[in-house]
Order: sequence, then C-alpha cells, then structure tokens
Amino acid sequence: MAISENLNRIKAQINPKVTLVAVSKTKPVSDIQEAYNAGQRIFGENKIQEMVAKYDELPKDISWHMIGHLQKNKVKYMAHFVDLIHGVDSFTTLIEINKQAKKHNRVIHCLLQLKIAQEDSKFGLSKEEINNILNSYDYKNMENIQVVGLMGMASFVDDKNQIKQEFSSLKAFYDELKPSQTQFNTISMGMSGDYPLAIEQGSTMIRVGSAIFGNRNYAN
Ligand SMILES: *Cc1c(COP(=O)(O)O)cnc(C)c1O
Repeated sequence: MAISENLNRIKAQINPKVTLVAVSKTKPVSDIQEAYNAGQRIFGENKIQEMVAKYDELPKDISWHMIGHLQKNKVKYMAHFVDLIHGVDSFTTLIEINKQAKKHNRVIHCLLQLKIAQEDSKFGLSKEEINNILNSYDYKNMENIQVVGLMGMASFVDDKNQIKQEFSSLKAFYDELKPSQTQFNTISMGMSGDYPLAIEQGSTMIRVGSAIFGNRNYAN
C-alpha cells in the first residue's frame, strides 16, 4: 500500500493529540519525501549518520527525532538540528548532549528511556537511576538540555497483557514524576505492532515505522 494511504489510515485511527513519529530508518529519501508530501513533518531515525545525511537532503521544516541507542561520540553531528532525543539511557550521554547543544546555543529536548521490557537485550534506565539523574545537582545545572518526559519499549512478545503492563508501568512512573517535573509533556511508547495498546495506556507519542513504510530490509 502507498505510504500516504498508510499515513492517513493511521492518523484517522489515533487521537489527534497523540504525536506520530514516522520512523524512516533504512528507508530512502524518496520514501520520506512521499510522506512529507502527504503532510508528515516528524521523522525518527535510529542512526545518527543516516539521520544527518537525510537531514542534508530534505526540506528544512522537518522535525528530526533520534530514537535509537546513542553513540556518545556522534552526538556532535546532529546537535545543530535534532529536535528530540528519545533514547537517553545514561547520565554521561546527557552531559555530552548538553555540551554539544551549548556549542550551537540550543536547548535540546530529551526523553529518558525507562527499561520496561523483561528482555535483557533492551536498553534503558531503572526508575532509581532516573530519579537519581533528575534530582542531581549536575542535571539541575545543565542549561542546554531539557528532559521533557519518558520513552519505553515493550517486550517483543505476543502476550498482550504483558505489553499492557509494561506500558502502564511507564505511565505510572511518569505520573509519579510529573508533579516535580513540570516541564514533562511526553510519553513516547508504541510502535507498529502495539501503538493502539500504548495509546490506550496513556502514550502521547508513537514511533511507527513498518506500518507506514513497509517492512525493512536489513539485508542490503
Ligand atoms: C525501529 C523502531 C521503531 C519502529 O518500529 P516499527 O515496528 O517498524 O514501527 C520504534 N522505536 C524504535 C526505538 C525503533 O528502533
């Protein structure tokens, strides 16, 4: 099915208050342009260099989100344009983002990734680590980043109850933090296979790739 049709179908299904990030990783610039022509402006990539190359080629009113695991030494390549970094999973990464954002006189918005999945393979911080970061003196003195919420990835399983529980634990932790983190406005959870469930559990931002662009081919 055409990219524009997929986009329109998904947008018709979701509450307009939920932000749709079109995950374009591995997909060519022509696919992104097609989604752009259909009105989509927010795109997510998981590799910094790939995102930079696409940024250079595409219209400048695109909002680029970095959704992948971050390599600290590459943060500098995207610091001048990235709009939201979803997967911050260490304090040292936050320090690096702050440092690079400062060079461009920007404030970069970030989400801390909470580990909600049972699988060991998934990245993410524990609740305790997130509390430690948000309450630390060093964090409070960072002027070039703002943590605007949390991101999470559910386990890759068929058990809907398990996925639901993982999403609801992220939402509950967000609600616990929100009174002291008044700048919080984003819960990033939900992908092609589970976004309706994520929205039901309180997601405000979904990251959808294959349901828009089709399956990814990693073989080439
Ligand atoms: C690839 C990816 C997505 C999108 O996955 P789909 O199943 O294709 O929708 C969402 N979030 C992250 C972090 C990803 O790496």
